[in-house]
Amino acid sequence: MVYDFAVFGGGVVGCAILNKLTRCKQTVVLLEKSLDVATGQSKANSGLVHAGFDAKENSLKSKFNVRGNKLFNKLCKELKVDLKESGAVVVSEDFETVKRLYERGKYNGVNGLKLLTGNEIFEKVPNLKKHFHYALYAKTAKLVSPYLFTIALAEEAVINGAKVIFDFETIKIEKRNGVFYIYNFNQIIMAKKIINCAGYGVNEISKLLHVEQFNLEFRRGEYFVLDKTASDFVSISVFPTPSKFGKGILATPTIDGNILFGPNNELCEYGTQTTHLGLNEVKQAINKMYDNVPWNKVIRNYSGVRVSCGDDFVVKLSEVDNDVALIAGINSPGLSSSPAIAEFICQLFNIDIEEKQMKKREDYSSIKKLTIKERNKLIETNPSFGKIVCKCEEVSEGEILRAINSPLKPITFDSIKRRVRTGMGRCQAGFCMMKVVSLLAKEQGLKLEDIFKEEKNSNIVLKDFEYDV
Ligand SMILES: Cc1cc2nc3c(=O)[nH]c(=O)nc-3n(C[C@H](O)[C@H](O)[C@H](O)COP(=O)(O)OP(=O)(O)OC[C@H]3O[C@@H](n4cnc5c(N)ncnc54)[C@H](O)[C@@H]3O)c2cc1C
Repeated sequence: MVYDFAVFGGGVVGCAILNKLTRCKQTVVLLEKSLDVATGQSKANSGLVHAGFDAKENSLKSKFNVRGNKLFNKLCKELKVDLKESGAVVVSEDFETVKRLYERGKYNGVNGLKLLTGNEIFEKVPNLKKHFHYALYAKTAKLVSPYLFTIALAEEAVINGAKVIFDFETIKIEKRNGVFYIYNFNQIIMAKKIINCAGYGVNEISKLLHVEQFNLEFRRGEYFVLDKTASDFVSISVFPTPSKFGKGILATPTIDGNILFGPNNELCEYGTQTTHLGLNEVKQAINKMYDNVPWNKVIRNYSGVRVSCGDDFVVKLSEVDNDVALIAGINSPGLSSSPAIAEFICQLFNIDIEEKQMKKREDYSSIKKLTIKERNKLIETNPSFGKIVCKCEEVSEGEILRAINSPLKPITFDSIKRRVRTGMGRCQAGFCMMKVVSLLAKEQGLKLEDIFKEEKNSNIVLKDFEYDV
């Protein structure tokens, strides 16, 4: 089969494009180097759909952010992904800074902006130190799970005819008679057009295509995650005033009820380790802004790496071969912009944007959301929904099995974690990891030692043993 499009990279941008092209009746294959979607920048960010007041006037960032923010509401409803319009504030000691952002936001077309002073600020952010006299409030900032959103985009595409191939290591690309032949070690994929949105790997693919490459820069952002019992610390995303290094270190709720502190912004080699220095920088910034910081509620640290090339996004057709679209330097606000980038790709390739009727995906809706009566009914038909495996997040065996057998066929421990939150709670998988590993092994007819945590060879069990599921 010759696909209309091959998309390289299963981050939020690649999956938004996969989804949009499928909706627009194109045949599409997504080729992802790792073992799941959302394993790059798209899993490790702040989970905010930004309002769009921060991006420079007339930039692609401002255009895609503002449009993307508007598209999120309908898209999340259709995909059955939770989205919460909780709003954001930028707080400052001087009026001019927030006024400038307000004017930029107005120019960018952001609705729901308001300048706040005095008590209006402390009503929204009770723990903020009292020297912040001015704030810009943005009503349309929203919270989303960046990985569930990415997964949902890909799943809906797959159940409507798209193909996703994991562990696809491209070694050669040839173009003959208008068709690209894409080789890995054991198969050849054919497509008429290519979209290169491989994030940190964009140059690997560009090189194989003999098209433009980019000067990439990597900037790590580190975070603290707080337990849900600290959820009343902030109920809105709170930013300091932005600098040339981005939006600054924020405190924000997540869609799942945790609190995040971070990210800092340090030049690095690509790699998602956390560091003493980085975390300390976040800690100091938070202590400077807030009183009563519940540091005893920290349950986890993580980092994500922004991939930049210059100040703005690159989204264009290659000047060497205009059957190739190049998408590079998608750092923040890339999550917020992803639906608008997908829309723009359709414009670049002159695709009719009338959407077909899509089959709806099942969500991973937690049994926690059910009433006791509904839960009991479910358990009667399937007792595995009555066996709680992850005690912190109250995830049942039935939900894990449903995730393992979902459309993208997740195979790693972390891919189940992203879908149903096993191991996301206070014990950080201390109690449930082996049970999840054994369910993954059993369902796939594998040994325990064959299950990876995230990347290839990240084995959790080194030697197989008897484990009673
Ligand atoms: C710390 C931090 C905080 C952020 N906060 C926000 C926020 O709150 N809101 C917001 O809007 N944005 C935020 N962002 C930005 C946002 O996360 C990114 O813009 C977005 O995730 C980029 O998506 P992507 O698909 O371009 O890249 P990625 O998610 O990195 O995906 C690229 C994919 O390509 C794959 N790949 C690499 N090489 C190859 C290859 N050779 N072949 C096939 N596949 C390959 C990778 O495995 C990966 O899956 C933040 C980013 C960071 C790092």
